[in-house]
Amino acid sequence: MDPPTVTARLDAFTIDARLPQTQCRRCGFESCHAYAQAIVDGATPGNRCAPGGAATLEQLNNLTGAQYLRIDPDFDSAYLSLTVTIVEELCIGCTLCIQACPVDAILGSAKLMHTVIAKECSGCELCLPVCPVDCVVSTSLPKDHKASAVSIDQAQANRYRSRFSGRQARLAEPSAKPPDSTPSMRVREIAQSVARVRKKRATTARI
Ligand code: SF4
Ligand code: SF4
Repeated sequence: MDPPTVTARLDAFTIDARLPQTQCRRCGFESCHAYAQAIVDGATPGNRCAPGGAATLEQLNNLTGAQYLRIDPDFDSAYLSLTVTIVEELCIGCTLCIQACPVDAILGSAKLMHTVIAKECSGCELCLPVCPVDCVVSTSLPKDHKASAVSIDQAQANRYRSRFSGRQARLAEPSAKPPDSTPSMRVREIAQSVARVRKKRATTARI
């Protein structure tokens, strides 16, 4: 089904206000606002936000005049994460999860253990695939858990949006710290970290 023509009066901020703000990119866009803008532009349908579930779908239908009955199966997920935790004894301090987190919900620095600020974690899971030692664990629930919700938690969504905007602004500053190392250096550093942790674990296991 082609996206409906959206009236000129509807702006991306109005659509964005109905989105859950997990900034998870499951809709195929870099952010909730980018997806909202694409809907307003008529470039994409409003049935691609799996975290928003049925409640968001209904609100977007009402705003845009669309009549989507379900989330596009190509963008749907069987499970959604509520939050994630880092298994701290496995963490090698590589900072890749910090760089991936769109809402700055991970604390830590290079070569030091990282930890997730649970109440700020949107459950986007963008930190899971980047961890080289698989130490980020998700507390996932079947999608219906959120899909059946009457509406998203607006206060929480506003906080995610605000943290996302703050991060974007910080990264755009000329004084933003450039990456400490090139990609090939990072690969080497991570391999060294993994080797260091393996050696430490092997030593501990012998004691
Ligand atoms: S919550 Fe995720 S899927 Fe929904 S609009 Fe935001 S980025 Fe896209
Ligand atoms: S900690 Fe991970 S799951 Fe939580 S918001 Fe950050 S990147 Fe997403």
